[in-house]
Amino acid sequence: MNKKKRFETMLIHKGYSSQDFHDSLNPPIFHSSTFTFSTAEQGEKRFTGEEEGFIYSRLGNPTVRVLEERMAALEKGEAALAFGSGMAAVSAVLFHFVYSGSHILCSRGVYGCTFGLIGLLHKKFGVIHTFNPMQTAEEIEAAIHDQTCCIYIETPINPTMELIDIRLVTDVAKKYGIPVVVDNTFCSPYLQNPLELGADYVIHSATKYISGHGDVIAGILVGKNKEDMQKIRMTTQKDIGGIIAPFDAWLLLCGLKTLHVRMDRHVENTRKLANYLKSHPFIEDIIYPGNPNSPYYFFWTIIHLKPLSNLFG
Ligand SMILES: *Cc1c(COP(=O)(O)O)cnc(C)c1O
Repeated sequence: MNKKKRFETMLIHKGYSSQDFHDSLNPPIFHSSTFTFSTAEQGEKRFTGEEEGFIYSRLGNPTVRVLEERMAALEKGEAALAFGSGMAAVSAVLFHFVYSGSHILCSRGVYGCTFGLIGLLHKKFGVIHTFNPMQTAEEIEAAIHDQTCCIYIETPINPTMELIDIRLVTDVAKKYGIPVVVDNTFCSPYLQNPLELGADYVIHSATKYISGHGDVIAGILVGKNKEDMQKIRMTTQKDIGGIIAPFDAWLLLCGLKTLHVRMDRHVENTRKLANYLKSHPFIEDIIYPGNPNSPYYFFWTIIHLKPLSNLFG
């Protein structure tokens, strides 16, 4: 049966079949560094990729694999990789693209450590960058040059809450054949799916809404192309080594189950809080894209239609 599953169903079931694991409701935690082979020939086939199967947990682990399949489906991608932190995911994707002398075109605001990493790439390897507001096609186009290896955006930006029109950026990027990476941490796949808007990669600091319980530091990278993601798995993930522990992957699978309920409540609480603070005599200004005076209000309303498309789409 190939019936399309609802988002809420995928949060709980995608990538796991209890029949394969003694009918266990929850996925087992495979705390094993290494996997055994029945014969030397089998070992050889696994290493060459001729045969499917696990080898060593830095290259893949069954508990982690459940999380990766679930995140890929939630973000409408072909494959996902889980990392030991959001920054490990950011590093793996940036190292995938850059060469010395490359140029990264980045949104004006990004998470502090992403900003730090881009600075480090410049200082150590001569990778240059431009920070750009990306509010019009003209300003994006003017910032692209021959050596631009990727466009990296974060929206909503932490903590300024500026929004970027993802479709506007991907339309320009397509004209030049430049891949687009979107840090979707603040919306989670419940409110926004950048791959549907033309992006090539999605990053999450899973430490935030994916976990939802403040009990784990982790990162996720989702890509629209399986072969390309396999290349990242076998290069910048494997060789830099920022992988996630099986127990942390299991914690994220627990957290994910309530993502839709938590995100609805966050949205509702924020709206109430913003309304209350707006009329408070001690408050000068509130930065909230759900405020009708905000320049980003239009996009904010579109983002909040997303759960409806999850329901009926
Ligand atoms: C927290 C955060 C990161 C970094 O993730 P860690 O899990 O802390 O490494 C990256 N991007 C955004 C938007 C974040 O909020």
